[in-house]
Amino acid sequence: MWQMLVTMLLTALLPVAAAAQDKVAVVAAENVYGDVVQQIGGAHVTVTSLISNPSQDPHLFEAAPAAARALSDAQIVIGNGADYDPWLDKLLESARKPGRVEISIAKLMGREAGDNPHLWYDPAAMPAFANALAAALTKADPAHEADYKSGLNVFLAALKPIEDKVASMRARYNGVPVTATEPVFEPMTDAIGLINRNRRFQLAMMNDTEPSAKDLAAFESDLKQHKVKALIRNAQVSEALTQRLVATGQTANVPIVGVTETLPGGKHFQDWVLSELDALDQALSGAK
Ligand SMILES: [Zn+2]
Repeated sequence: MWQMLVTMLLTALLPVAAAAQDKVAVVAAENVYGDVVQQIGGAHVTVTSLISNPSQDPHLFEAAPAAARALSDAQIVIGNGADYDPWLDKLLESARKPGRVEISIAKLMGREAGDNPHLWYDPAAMPAFANALAAALTKADPAHEADYKSGLNVFLAALKPIEDKVASMRARYNGVPVTATEPVFEPMTDAIGLINRNRRFQLAMMNDTEPSAKDLAAFESDLKQHKVKALIRNAQVSEALTQRLVATGQTANVPIVGVTETLPGGKHFQDWVLSELDALDQALSGAK
């Protein structure tokens, strides 16, 4: 009798426990995208972001066993692509799972290895990703379609200040020359119409190879002779060469703007990008 009652009680309680696990499990390789999943999916998703430390070089990221475990449970997996997270493809291939939706930002944008991989800084990328994500969430969890739709609309509206800022800066700075230690912010400076000097040097730094002496000399000459109106530094890496260029820029009174690749903790994507654009705007307006 008691046993039966306990069994009945457990059976009655089980659906509650199941409901708590009913959330859509999403894994994002980069926390930039994980933040967007959280914003659009709200209470209906659990998000794991594999790269989330803004003081480590994401190009050198190596997936720990925990990453493979998170991926084995994931219904939706998001990766940047364009060779930014090659470890992700390997993990996904080694553990195929039918029905799992894989979103590659590079594929959405028609980019491939060799293109600038910092795709979240391309103003067109996040709206494309947000739409693909909302569709994937709706497919995985059709019962909450209306919530995903409104989450998508709220997020797209939150991107509007970035679009406005880019348009405003483009009107003022189109054709202005700048330089950078790495091409992290280049999709954004391209959108503003800035000229990005010393690109070959930047690619060498990004790929952890030695820039040529000639390229380094050209970079330093740009700073010393004020051929650039701002130096954008990747604040996420601290190689000796980067520090040397920052010091040269400081001595020459070239404004220096720090950007990161990984979303800093406690910030949403849109606030983070807007604060970086504000910093660049301030640097350029002072230098004009
Ligand atoms: Zn990078």
